Amino acid sequence: MPELPEVETTRRGVQPHVVGREIVRLTVRESRLRWPIPAELPALLQGQRVDAVERRAKYLLFLTPGGTLLIHLGMSGSLRLVPSGQSPAKHDHFDIELKGGQVLRYNDPRRFGCCLWLAPDEQHPLLRHLGPEPLSDAFDGELLYRRSRGRKGPVKPFLMDQKVVVGVGNIYANEALFLAGIRPDRAAGRVSLARYESLAGRVKQVLTSAISQGGTTLRDFVGGDGKPGYFAQQLHVYGREGQPCKRCGLPLRELRISQRSTIYCVACQR
Ligand SMILES: [Zn+2]
Repeated sequence: MPELPEVETTRRGVQPHVVGREIVRLTVRESRLRWPIPAELPALLQGQRVDAVERRAKYLLFLTPGGTLLIHLGMSGSLRLVPSGQSPAKHDHFDIELKGGQVLRYNDPRRFGCCLWLAPDEQHPLLRHLGPEPLSDAFDGELLYRRSRGRKGPVKPFLMDQKVVVGVGNIYANEALFLAGIRPDRAAGRVSLARYESLAGRVKQVLTSAISQGGTTLRDFVGGDGKPGYFAQQLHVYGREGQPCKRCGLPLRELRISQRSTIYCVACQR
């Protein structure tokens, strides 16, 4: 599944090719995504100029003078730049054709993504209750500490709660908790401020590192520029159940927390 680093990699990959360009047309071959692509979207997009490509959580936002195009990659979506005239393949559900001959093409076998429109100044319900961006100054140990007081549930799902902070997916939560030395099943309300400061720093570190390497999912993700992500090769715990801890050598254990696979080290995480 594309996580925040893959979405950010996509944003950085497509941005230089679409900003300042005019949209010639939107061609929809399959409108039944998670929510249907609005029937009026081709008319709304035609002739608009892309002023910026931004990201909020895992949503890509294409800003134009007439409004904002919001795209989510869902479970299996990808955006690619292809030359105009290249025939669509299976699951290529829509094309945004840009002036000058390039096409931004959306592929999504499972169709859990979306492509929606926001009028100027409209705040979409999907974006309304999101916590701060993990790489912004608004996200720090102080915020985690404050938001976690009184919480009896485990720290891992707390860290993955989009209302607390956005974009910390399962892989990154596993990794950051290992690096911060915090047991993933420890009660969120029982973690000290100093340890949350360490955890916030580790979240920023793993996400920054993954973004610089183009994301994690080697198998099914292709970055905006067509290169696969290599971050998976340096994971400490995720996907390494039973293998030796890179710090102490003990075999890593697996726990299910909120139905999600959680790998940790009994000796290094407390
Ligand atoms: Zn260990």
